[in-house]
Order: sequence, then structure tokens, then C-alpha cells
Amino acid sequence: MSRIAYVNGRYLPRHLATVHIEDRGYQFSDGVYEVCEVRGGRLVDERLHMGRLARSLDELRIAMPMTLAALGAVMRETVRRNRVGDGIVYLQVTRGVARRDHAFPPPGTAPSVVVTARNIDFSGNEKTAVDGIAVVTVPDNRWERVDIKSVSLLPNVLAKQAAREQGAKEAWFVDRSGCVTEGSSTNAWIVTRDGDVVTRPAGPGILRGITRTVLLDAIKAQGLRLVERPFTVEEAYAAREAFVTSASLIVMPVVRIDGRPVGNGAPGLIAGALRRDFHRYAELS
Ligand code: PLP
Repeated sequence: MSRIAYVNGRYLPRHLATVHIEDRGYQFSDGVYEVCEVRGGRLVDERLHMGRLARSLDELRIAMPMTLAALGAVMRETVRRNRVGDGIVYLQVTRGVARRDHAFPPPGTAPSVVVTARNIDFSGNEKTAVDGIAVVTVPDNRWERVDIKSVSLLPNVLAKQAAREQGAKEAWFVDRSGCVTEGSSTNAWIVTRDGDVVTRPAGPGILRGITRTVLLDAIKAQGLRLVERPFTVEEAYAAREAFVTSASLIVMPVVRIDGRPVGNGAPGLIAGALRRDFHRYAELS
């Protein structure tokens, strides 16, 4: 079956699904995106993803291309046309097409909208979770508004590549005070020797992950002690457990940081329990 993409009002076979060379997403990475997990053909936490999308657009003063309900309908239709059971749907909105000029295009320039969806064999992630993943740390050299889910991801791309070249799956950004901010495409967590589940507070320094938001509820419901505070790389080295979260990885145990084993070097019990339980707290639509 050929895959279908939604581009500015049309559902097209992928090989015909193209954007204009003067799209500001292409020229300036002037756009935002969302990635939603799909389970059994339904969107996971659509409401939260759409809320974050609206905020990202608002922060960058990009016009909302259509109502959130209409965007949701396009995402669902793209999922349906691609027969996605379990996978992800990707949505991107840019400031539109205009003659190249750094300043905003003329008022009324229509934002561009692209939606794609694909199946993912989540059993691969399950197998990865059994062993856990390695992460490496890199300096956080991103701009100050990483709370906006912008398609401007060059530092994240370079960080992920650095991780790959060192045999790791993810890179953790570290700020100037030696604290971990987040992963290149995930939020970062540790469990201390005292059993505190620690993650950096949402603010300008991290993207407020939707998985992170939902997991906060799961952690509280399980009676675990949650502490939202920055943690240092040294604390992470000495942690009992570590893990990362994102819409596609859910909860993924981290077993090595910069080549040093975390805890006993095996996935932690809390990470495993949160991974198993996550979807009890997520919303399907
Ligand atoms: N942090 C960054 C930099 C990301 O790119 C992502 C996801 O792409 C996340 C965190 C996790 O966000 P979510 O749980 O909404 O997928």
C-alpha cells in the first residue's frame, strides 16, 4: 500500500507530496510540529498535543491554520488512509510560502500544514526496553526557547548523531551549571538512591513533553515521591535508575550514562512499572 500524506488541503501519495522551495519551514525552519502516538488507530493524548501546538504557534506568532478540531480530523484521516494501527502521526505547521525575507511575510500568508502517519513495530521498542539504552552527555548549546516545539532542531540532530557515534541511543543536554536539561528528543529522569523520582521542572529550559506530563500523574498515583528539580550529571551517574520519556519511546530505561552503569546496570523496577502502566493514564481519541 502506498503511503499518503496530507499537504495543504490535499491527501497525496507520498511521492507527489511536496512543499514549495520558498516554504519558510524549508528556508528558515520557521515552523512547529507535534508527534502523537497512535494506538489501535486512535490518537494518544490528542488534547494535550493540540494544546501544546496552539501554544507553540502562539509563541511564534504563526496563525492557527484551522481549528484544533479540524486539525485533529486531518490527523485521524491521515492515520486512517495509511491504515496505521500502532505508530505515530506527525503534524507540521510553518509560517507559509513567501519570497525569501527574514522578516514575517505579508499578513494573510497562509501557514503550510503537512501531516504524515506511519506504523511502528513497537515490539522492537519492547525488546530495547528489556535491555535499556545508553546515553551520553553533551553541552546544551540550544537557544533559550526550547519550550517551543520548533522544527529548528540542528543542535538536537548533532547531539543524536554524537550519541550514535558513541554507540548510545540518546544524548542528554547539560547546562552551564552541570545539570541535565533533557534528551535530544526525550525528557530525562532519574530515581535517586532514596527513591525520589526526579525530573527537571517544565520551564524555558526544556520541552514540556506530553509523556512527561501524563507520567507525573502516573507517578503520583503509584505513591512514588516525585521531585521536580534540576539534577546534575554526577547525580545521574550515582542514581539508582534513569529513564527517558517521549511519545514514541514511552518510558525507556537508561542503563549507561557516558559509559558508566546506572545502578546495577540493568533497567530499573520503577522505570519498568511506569512503562507498563503509562497507557492507563493516557487519553485515547
Ligand atoms: N524533549 C525534546 C527535545 C523532544 O524533542 C521531545 C519529543 O520529541 C520530548 C522532549 C518529549 O516530548 P513528548 O513526550 O511530547 O514526545
